[in-house]
Amino acid sequence: MRPAISLRHPPPISRNAPLFSLPPLSLLPPSPSLSQILQSHAHLVSLGLSSSRSAMSHLLAACAVSPSPPPSYFHSIYLQIQLPNVFASNNLLRCLSKGENPNQALAFYKNMRISGVPTNKFTFPVLLHACTRDPSLPQGTQVHAHAFKFGFCEDLYVRNALISLYSACRSFGKSRQVFDELPECRDLVSWNAMLAGHVRNGQIDVAENMFDEMPERDVITWSTMIMGYVQNGVLEKGLDLFGQMVRSGRVFVNEATLVTVLSASAQLGLLEHGTFIHSIIKNVNFPLTMALGTALVDMYAKCGCIDLAQNVFYHMPKRDVFAWNAMICGIASHGQGKEALELFQQFINEGLNPTAVTFVGILNACSRAGLVDEGRRFFNSMANEYGIEPEMEHYGCMVDLFGRAGLIPEALELIQGMSVKPDCVLWATLLGACKMHGFVELGIIIGKNLIKLEPGHDGHYVLLAALYAKARKWEDVTEVRRLMSSRGTSKVAGWSLIEANGELHKFIAGDLDHKESSKIYKMIEIIGKKLAEAGYLPDVSSVLHDIEDEEKIYVINVHSERLAIAYGLMVVEQGRPIRIVKNLRVCVDCHEFSKMVSKVLGREIIVRDGSRFHHFKDGFCSCVDYW
Ligand code: ZN
Ligand code: ZN
Repeated sequence: MRPAISLRHPPPISRNAPLFSLPPLSLLPPSPSLSQILQSHAHLVSLGLSSSRSAMSHLLAACAVSPSPPPSYFHSIYLQIQLPNVFASNNLLRCLSKGENPNQALAFYKNMRISGVPTNKFTFPVLLHACTRDPSLPQGTQVHAHAFKFGFCEDLYVRNALISLYSACRSFGKSRQVFDELPECRDLVSWNAMLAGHVRNGQIDVAENMFDEMPERDVITWSTMIMGYVQNGVLEKGLDLFGQMVRSGRVFVNEATLVTVLSASAQLGLLEHGTFIHSIIKNVNFPLTMALGTALVDMYAKCGCIDLAQNVFYHMPKRDVFAWNAMICGIASHGQGKEALELFQQFINEGLNPTAVTFVGILNACSRAGLVDEGRRFFNSMANEYGIEPEMEHYGCMVDLFGRAGLIPEALELIQGMSVKPDCVLWATLLGACKMHGFVELGIIIGKNLIKLEPGHDGHYVLLAALYAKARKWEDVTEVRRLMSSRGTSKVAGWSLIEANGELHKFIAGDLDHKESSKIYKMIEIIGKKLAEAGYLPDVSSVLHDIEDEEKIYVINVHSERLAIAYGLMVVEQGRPIRIVKNLRVCVDCHEFSKMVSKVLGREIIVRDGSRFHHFKDGFCSCVDYW
């Protein structure tokens, strides 16, 4: 940076004046590339304007709106300007504030002050922008003080920059103060900045009120509010607002909003919502970008439509590793282990490098398909061939793989040899495997340890009690149950979701709240009779040991997914699958029940449970009873 420079005081350009009014510059687009700027520069030189202050200042203005001009270049232009004026200096500030180190803008401003260069109202929004990019409250407050001292605090652009600055510094009270101070000095940008501030601060209710009050709204407003809901965990409201926007007849969409609502639909497993968003994307001809394509693949996969996910995947103009990861993990979660591995081979053939997430998908695929040797090979190749250190999730997949295959000693050896401390999930996976394969003694040791490590987690007590029951140690079963209730653990309530005619229906076990509750229970009775005629008997082993048998049958009868299935039979038209999302794992009996319904009543049922998909058809499940 050059030292003290003496500068004159020419009048600032008007904000509305064309930015590049000189002939070679006037041909430039609004956001010129470096090579376009270099061409214009060469043209200016050939016209003998290389030392014209006006020409070089405007060239600098072009750099300021270019995506990423190299600092050495715009500095060299600035240095060619004899007696740079405030216009030239503001443009250099702008270049610096957008660069890698926005603090350089502040350093340059300091130089301007030392050398007595005047400032104008265009100086401060740029400086405040620099403070916002690398949020620093003390620096921002100093710039605010300068703006005040020079009388620019009533400028709309300065105020908007202040609102953004304070919310970037998480100083939301100050931000709101600036917003409230001068109500006549606000525009849509001020409202949007304040709305974003409240969303950032997690004040979703305040943001909601503000959104309702806004005199006008644009694409930023809508996307801020929709993304605000989703990021703050209110997924349904985010999707609702998106629908409201579309119904209002004005579709304000950008990539970020679309990706957000697709991910909300994916998380909730809402196919109707996801399909609706896809139709909007097609209707407005929104380009299928990599991020959007990946979000669609993920949504369809998580909503149980792996064929639609594949369809989007193969129609994407370009696919990066994220898109491949979504597809590989999606196929794996549907239990199509071999297909996932084939896809992985294609991925490698295309010359792409797998990431840690790719291996989660691959190892999951091996585990779901019981491919033990392949799993071992891929796990070893992670570090050896690709330099990726296995993380907890990868170990989890391996323990699951060995556990399912009954290779309990190998799973134990893997856990004991880990360089990081195994977490409780890993031990719980092994405990589940011990129960499944009758490794009672080891299971009891692990179960006791887990209860010490996580005394509030009811799943450990249930598994340990089941192991004691397997060993016929009834006194110990009672003891574990007593311990469980004395420590006040409570089972996570199971729920199931079903989408019907654009509405969401959520059921919990034994639910009587649904408006068609009595019809639903009637339906359950009818199904029960039909299944009994076909020879189905409820398996009561998965209900707590100390409940009387009759009651057990009753409790199983009203597991949330049965209510959802009964309702699905009432409302989903014949020939279309009944799609259900469940938060917990399906119990053995509900699994059997769903298979029977698919056979006896001839309906396809797709259940996404806590960890995988079950496609029930003609009395069989895609998981081959292995979950
Ligand atoms: Zn169940
Ligand atoms: Zn299944």
